[in-house]
Amino acid sequence: MDPYNKELFDQIQKLEQSARLLEPEPEERMLWLKQLGDCTDRFIGSLDQGKAYRKFDQMAGLLEVDKSGKKVLDFSQAVSELESDLLTKGLNPASGGHLGYIPGGGIYAGVLGDYLAALYNQYAGIYYGGPGAVKIENELIRWLGSLMGYPDGSLGNLTSGGSIANLIAVVTAREARGIKSREIPELCIYLTEQVHHCVHKAIRISGLGEAQIRTIGLDDGYRMDTGDLKWAIEEDLRVGLRPFMVIGTAGTTDTGAIDPLDEIADLCELYKIWFHVDAAYGGFFVLCDLNTQEGQPLKEAFKGMERSDSLAIDPHKGLFLSYGLGAVLIKDLESQYKAHYYRAAYMQDTLSSQEELSPADLSPELTKHFRGLRLWIPLRLYGIKPFVSCLEEKILLCRYFYEEIKKMGFQTGPFPQTSVCVYRYIPKSGDPNAFNQALVDKVISDGRVFVSSTQLSGEYWIRIAILSFRTHLSTIQTYLEVLGGAVQELLDE
Ligand SMILES: *Cc1c(COP(=O)(O)O)cnc(C)c1O
Repeated sequence: MDPYNKELFDQIQKLEQSARLLEPEPEERMLWLKQLGDCTDRFIGSLDQGKAYRKFDQMAGLLEVDKSGKKVLDFSQAVSELESDLLTKGLNPASGGHLGYIPGGGIYAGVLGDYLAALYNQYAGIYYGGPGAVKIENELIRWLGSLMGYPDGSLGNLTSGGSIANLIAVVTAREARGIKSREIPELCIYLTEQVHHCVHKAIRISGLGEAQIRTIGLDDGYRMDTGDLKWAIEEDLRVGLRPFMVIGTAGTTDTGAIDPLDEIADLCELYKIWFHVDAAYGGFFVLCDLNTQEGQPLKEAFKGMERSDSLAIDPHKGLFLSYGLGAVLIKDLESQYKAHYYRAAYMQDTLSSQEELSPADLSPELTKHFRGLRLWIPLRLYGIKPFVSCLEEKILLCRYFYEEIKKMGFQTGPFPQTSVCVYRYIPKSGDPNAFNQALVDKVISDGRVFVSSTQLSGEYWIRIAILSFRTHLSTIQTYLEVLGGAVQELLDE
């Protein structure tokens, strides 16, 4: 053999030997799966008695990266590092006691979907490369669209969450209206102070930061006042500005309120304004067969959602999946495509098959996580019914909680339209804001449940957001006990 090749082959083979360490042998794979199973059982088994929040000062866990080329740690050791410190501090979002922000949980069947997605590593960005993966994701988007009342022919994108979903919608609206940069200061965007902050981020990131932001007034249920909206639109038209987009929310973060979507849709239709609905938290409650406090079907409150041009919805909230799955639904597919596609010489082969539109042409991403499988697997296993039961349970738990804290002497916000509500305790003397902040601190120190707070008209309010699939009646009863005890302690101090 040519001495040059011999030397080269020797070198390659030596490297191959070292590189092959990355492919475990079958026996090792089985061992790891067993250890993984033990670890997941320990974790899930600990949730019932464990804490939803654990205080922490400092985290251990400096990453020491070995360079020897030999295996330095057993899989079980790597896992126990996580169990002993790294993944057991602060908030535990897998716990049913997580009643802060917007929980969800992370159902196990979805976790296995993620495992498979990572293992198959299908190319979910482009139909040509991963037709099965893209088909699965597009079918899921069409299914979500049908749940929300969107017509056939709509599509959208499975995103990492609601923030990116809202961003894609805003960028698509900009494209649809053919906005030139010099026109931006003439544009008017209508929203309320209850809109999620990621909508403001989306407006800025999409280059629309110089548009006129009109903060529309609220009714006594923290919903958009459509009289005020109409007035603002007409006023803007009168002075020669351009009403561009209205952002309604179906389930606000602070109080779970649903804006009057049908009335907003009427105005958007009349004045030809892009109507976006942020249903990231609340959208799936449209599936519930419950009545409102006034005896109307809850579904009625969502009427008009189907008339929007775009909609953001988060399966990692309302379908209880692990973090990392949101969706945007869009009717004007052509504008979504025009806003996001690009062609490159090295991608020319991918154009041959276009039976399904590719996520890469409908979002900022190219190579992406095959995130749809975590929804596909549970849906194939269970269908939709247990999800709807879970959503209905959460709403009823919130109503129960609302009535109980009233009985305990708390001041309450509006009756919950969904599964979030706000409340505060007014002590006979002293600053109520400081009192309620101290109350939250006490609840968090106890740690069995975790709650968060917000500000409404400059006042400190405690929130409860019930959406983890692991939150049940006993969780709420525990929280009521903890809260009652904390109030008593503070009053005694
Ligand atoms: C959670 C939430 C968002 C943001 O979604 P992420 O998935 O956290 O990015 C946007 N809007 C509303 C109403 C939300 O509840």
